[in-house]
Amino acid sequence: MIEQSLVLIKPDGVQRGLIGEVIKRFENVGLKIVGMKMQRVDKKFAERHYPKRLIPILGGKTLADWEDLGIKTTKGKEELGKQAWNDLIKFTTEGPILAFVLEGVHAVQIVRKMVGHTSPHKADPGTIRGDYSPISMGYATVRKFGGRNLIHASGTVEEAKAEVKLWFKPGELHTYKTVHETHTR
Ligand code: UDP
Ligand code: MG
Repeated sequence: MIEQSLVLIKPDGVQRGLIGEVIKRFENVGLKIVGMKMQRVDKKFAERHYPKRLIPILGGKTLADWEDLGIKTTKGKEELGKQAWNDLIKFTTEGPILAFVLEGVHAVQIVRKMVGHTSPHKADPGTIRGDYSPISMGYATVRKFGGRNLIHASGTVEEAKAEVKLWFKPGELHTYKTVHETHTR
C-alpha cells in the first residue's frame, strides 16, 4: 500500500526560488523524502521523461485552454501538441531541476492533489500550481515559452514506478525511519 511518487521542481520553480516552499508542503503533510538531487538534463533525457506519445494530450489541453481564451483555430491536437511538446522539451532543458522521490500511503494521489490542475489558471487555491503560477497552458502555447507550471508529479502508480527508475539509481534511494515511525507508533 506504500507508494512512491517522482516529483520535479522544474526549471521555472528553481528560478523562482520555490524549492523550500514546495518541499515544506510535502514534509508538512507527512510524506517521506527518500531520494533527492539537482540535475540539468539534456534533450535526449527530457524526451524520455516526456515521450512523444504525450503530443495529442498536450494538444488537447492547449485546445481546451484556447476555448477559454476565445482563440479560434483550424489547427488540430497533433499540430498544436507538437508545438507545445517542442517548447516543453526546450523549457525542461533550460536550467537545473530538483528531483525527489516521496514515499507514503497513497503518495501518488496525495502529491497530485497538492500539485493541482495541469493548467495553473484551473488549479485550485491551496495547490502549488494554483498558489504560485499565474499562467495557463493555452497561453504558454501562444507565447511558445513551454508549460511553465513549476512542478511535475507522477500521474499514476505505474508512471511513478517508471519515472523513479528513470531518474534514480537504486543506490540513490534511502531506507530510514522517521521519528514518528520510531517513537510514536
Ligand atoms: N504542457 C504544455 N502544454 C499543454 C499541456 C501540458 O506545455 O497544453 C506541459 C506542462 O508543463 C505539463 C507537461 O506538459 O506539466 C506534461 O503534461 P501532462 O498532461 O502530463 O500534465 P501534468 O501531469 O504535468 O499535470
Ligand atoms: Mg503527466
